[in-house]
Amino acid sequence: MKNNNVLIIGAGIGGLAVGIRLAAEGFRVRIIEKNMKPGGWLQPTRIGEITFPNAGSLVTMPQQLDSLFNATGRNLDEYLSLEEISPIFRFIFSEENEYTLYREPADTLMKNDLFGLQDQQGYTAYGKRSDRILDEFLPKFFTKPYRRSRNPFAPEFGFRSLRPRRSGRRVSERLFTSEELRSVHSFWSMFCGGAPSLSSHFYRMIPSVMQRWGVFLVKGGSESLVNALVKLFLECGGEIQYNSEAEAIQVYNGSVTGVRLTDNSIRMADYVISDADTAYTCRTLIDSDRFRYATVTAAQQRKPGISLFIYHMAFQTQPRAKRPLIGFNVIMPPDIKQWEQELFSENRLPSHPLFYLNVPSMIEPDFVPNDRGALSVICPVPNLNSEVNWPQESYRFRDRILTELQQYFEDDLRSGLAGERYITPVMLENSFNGFMGAAWGFDPNQEKTEIPHLPNRCADIENLYLVGNGAHPGPFLPGVLQSAEIVHQEIINSRKDM
Ligand SMILES: Cc1cc2nc3c(=O)[nH]c(=O)nc-3n(C[C@H](O)[C@H](O)[C@H](O)COP(=O)(O)OP(=O)(O)OC[C@H]3O[C@@H](n4cnc5c(N)ncnc54)[C@H](O)[C@@H]3O)c2cc1C
Repeated sequence: MKNNNVLIIGAGIGGLAVGIRLAAEGFRVRIIEKNMKPGGWLQPTRIGEITFPNAGSLVTMPQQLDSLFNATGRNLDEYLSLEEISPIFRFIFSEENEYTLYREPADTLMKNDLFGLQDQQGYTAYGKRSDRILDEFLPKFFTKPYRRSRNPFAPEFGFRSLRPRRSGRRVSERLFTSEELRSVHSFWSMFCGGAPSLSSHFYRMIPSVMQRWGVFLVKGGSESLVNALVKLFLECGGEIQYNSEAEAIQVYNGSVTGVRLTDNSIRMADYVISDADTAYTCRTLIDSDRFRYATVTAAQQRKPGISLFIYHMAFQTQPRAKRPLIGFNVIMPPDIKQWEQELFSENRLPSHPLFYLNVPSMIEPDFVPNDRGALSVICPVPNLNSEVNWPQESYRFRDRILTELQQYFEDDLRSGLAGERYITPVMLENSFNGFMGAAWGFDPNQEKTEIPHLPNRCADIENLYLVGNGAHPGPFLPGVLQSAEIVHQEIINSRKDM
């Protein structure tokens, strides 16, 4: 095959997935990865013998992984073992209330005390409409390439009757009577960094996806998923070069020619695919006359999304919780509106943070051997565009999280700590080159007026493609795996035109 040299920047899940598809078709594919290990966000953190997952524990739409393995003539089951979970998420409110999402909508309705009669009707209406949004959004937008940076909610996409510009908050206020149910049912945009009252209610598709196709854990954690994809990629003939950082994508006459690395070596390529953060790729990596390109301008016009403070704690024994926890919990702040105002509008650390509380031993027993204990807190915080001075603030913030967390535990957390590690937005920017430390790429709060993700195929730089979080159709494993499938298809189609 002629002109078949593909260079992929980044061995995150997006880079690996598109690499597998192209290598299986006979392309010569090389991935360069700046870190010593593959997987990007899916790499866990270790403290001694304990493994703390960071991202990608929950696998939704597992059919996408089946499709990826099938594209190479292999079977997913031979590489990975997936186990379905229910309950999936537990939301914990300070007033002794909680809400648990189960696989079955009927279980969710029956096993949660929060639903009054009117809320039960609201929940049924919410679910029906969410399913309809999913049925329309997937085939019309999610699985399709899109060329221009235009708003997916413009009339030509045909979503108008589903009122895409309504916020999640507004919809849940109409359907539910209690503040807790309103908070939970407008929360789903937060999975991609979107504020409940600013982003479209279309994010309600997320629980619909979970309930329709199930939620799965990978045996061995997200690292096992990464290892399986690396194995598959190498078996298909791909190569990975670790500890190799791209410095510039070289463009000549409007077409990519290769990539220059930080060690000043140059890798020529017919196609360059970037799995690195999209904003960083367009703002920093595109070489020579970068401001000529609409792709670069489009990236500059979009704001980076929020970041995260991640705090892993190891204990001699598992601290006893006052209320039953499951693997994935969300600790809700006392006043969600105030929290949203502080984080999204005032761009500062909220006075009472909202955080995800993961219990690693309940996600994978092997993560926490020898009866040790472990907890992880993942806390949404402003990106580096705020005035937070992380080198000064990080220890104080870690302390505040411990204080907030303590009210949910019988045992004293501070005295039980055997080891800890926190990761700030500054570290996230340094580790993965995420622009401004943004965790999910561009800010989805612009979505009601402007699509935040860039097209997978760069219109004005020939043979440059984008996969992953900041590219169409967006973050999360389903979005990222879909972006890989679209890039693969775009490259195959471009060769037909040659
Ligand atoms: C806290 C958290 C929890 C999450 N949990 C889930 C979940 O349970 N389920 C789910 O489906 N999704 C989850 N997600 C989302 C999911 O993890 C991401 O959407 C996905 O991992 C993004 O993959 P990616 O390949 O786009 O990017 P990344 O994982 O960021 O990979 C990009 C890679 O590019 C490399 N790179 C960057 N710059 C360069 C350079 N110049 N040269 C060479 N290499 C470079 C980086 O080192 C990195 O390895 C979660 C996200 C977060 C933040």
